[in-house]
Amino acid sequence: MLLLKQLEFTFERSTIDQRAGRDVDLELKTREILHSLGLARLARLVRVEWNSRLQTAAGRADFREKLISLNPRLCDYDESEIDRTLRHELAHLLAQFRAGRRRVSPHGPEWRDACCDLGIGDEVRCHNLPFLISERTRRFIYKCPSCAREFPRVRRIRRAVACLRCCRAHNGGEFNARFRLQLVTAAS
Ligand SMILES: [Zn+2]
Ligand SMILES: [Zn+2]
Repeated sequence: MLLLKQLEFTFERSTIDQRAGRDVDLELKTREILHSLGLARLARLVRVEWNSRLQTAAGRADFREKLISLNPRLCDYDESEIDRTLRHELAHLLAQFRAGRRRVSPHGPEWRDACCDLGIGDEVRCHNLPFLISERTRRFIYKCPSCAREFPRVRRIRRAVACLRCCRAHNGGEFNARFRLQLVTAAS
């Protein structure tokens, strides 16, 4: 029974080990998007990475390096949040790329145009906002008693769920109650 419960958690975050450094899959996806817009040169140059040094920012775009950095905390939310942040940052690169030497303002009209081209014409958020929005919906904060990593959840966890990272590091990847997540905050 416990094994089933632990597996559920394993699959919940199967990408956990990849959330550092360059992300080849996201790079490919970004290149495809740029190719579809006829931007082969930018497609060739763009890189996508996970960067745990980002604190409250969901992402960052470095035009000089053609580098999009994503906050690994995005993985606590769903795929659509990652996709939207990727496109938000890509819009920054795209806006500056099109403007050439002319300097564009971070969330100005050029950026807005780029958002439309990237399918997020309704984008209104600044970089930090996704987390603020999510703060309101993730009412339950769980914590691993071993590594103290936090697991924000929208709903109460009703199963035995353990910290995957600790189970892997200290227990051969098997469920161990020592690493069972504990509820620390239940906001109303
Ligand atoms: Zn932005
Ligand atoms: Zn842990």
